[in-house]
Amino acid sequence: MNYLVLIPDGAADYPIDALGGKTPLEAADKPTLDRLAADSLVGTVSNVPDGMVPESDTANLAILSYDPKIYSKGRSPLEAVSMGLEMKPGDIAFRCNVVTLSEEQACYDDRIMLDHSADEITTEEAAGLIRAVAEVLGTEERAFYPGVSYRHCMIWHCPPAYREFNRPHDFLGERVGDKLPPEPYASLLRRSYEILNRHPVNEARRARGLRPANSIWLWSPGAKPALSSFREKWGLDASVISAVDLIKGIGLCAGMESIDVEGATGNYKTNYKGKADAAIDAFRRGKELVYVHVEAPDECGHRAETGNKVTSISRISEELLKPILHFLDACREPYAVMVLPDHPTPVCRRTHTREPVPFLIYRSDRRQQGVSRFCEREAEKTGIYLPEGHRLMALLTGKEPS
Ligand SMILES: [Zn+2]
Repeated sequence: MNYLVLIPDGAADYPIDALGGKTPLEAADKPTLDRLAADSLVGTVSNVPDGMVPESDTANLAILSYDPKIYSKGRSPLEAVSMGLEMKPGDIAFRCNVVTLSEEQACYDDRIMLDHSADEITTEEAAGLIRAVAEVLGTEERAFYPGVSYRHCMIWHCPPAYREFNRPHDFLGERVGDKLPPEPYASLLRRSYEILNRHPVNEARRARGLRPANSIWLWSPGAKPALSSFREKWGLDASVISAVDLIKGIGLCAGMESIDVEGATGNYKTNYKGKADAAIDAFRRGKELVYVHVEAPDECGHRAETGNKVTSISRISEELLKPILHFLDACREPYAVMVLPDHPTPVCRRTHTREPVPFLIYRSDRRQQGVSRFCEREAEKTGIYLPEGHRLMALLTGKEPS
């Protein structure tokens, strides 16, 4: 039995006036997904437990059968793992952004957070800056690692206990002195400005009319989640395909193979066909479960791009799902497919929300009376509701986890 799990991230939404009162899932032309829904078990599911923030790591942990209430440790350790960094017991990973602070003020604390991404600095430029920071602020216990664009990592072995860091994108335009963590963290941030502000990389950026990345900002600390092996839990050899570090990190922490697809960008122009090819190749290599995550609809939700969100859903159905189903059908072995968004990212809200999302589970050897269209309303009408997303995998496989 082969299993395909397909996650159109953030695809669920509310009815939108510009779509004639339809949701993007209702408006999208997606015959393949709708045909599957006609023969599937369809319902709604809550992937985010009460009291938890509807983040992608939380929801995807649940879908992969790891109870977020136990295993969700924040995004940084997952990103660190996907960067190939080793985390020992006692290590805490921090997201380390390079950010732009205003320069007019005399003291660090009076500066203003202008840009949490330093004008989406290039990976090459940022690597030079992170190396400069590491030379001065790195110690035996504390290391800085360059990542992609403005997103980097600090790993600190047994750091001072403090977890309530402010997220830099949450206080744009505000004075950093009101948002600083306590010592010794505040000093790291203040000293990073002295290292970075006149760094040649930043002088060159100013000359090109770009914002300097003149400070680091630390946030979202966490230990590596101790996920049990997915293979041991379900007896299935599994791969994850995603453009997003968070999702790759979850897969790697669960002992799954993470497949990088060229041109998989996380936005709506991502390489849908490349992901389909990678999934088919994984099945050919004997993988029994392939988890394909597509960030595009979520990104369109955050950017309030209704048309692109509809298009991305359509392309997921016709350029990604369709060829994989074609392959699985040709294998002449029974297979199962599960499709669901991890959480809604409504265009009108531009952020994640916590409503239940529609899901479908299709089994080629046991077809069911499903619904005419894979969407929020049809899924709700079935009256099937799963309050805990981490039970989905049992429903998909018909097994109990060991
Ligand atoms: Zn998500």
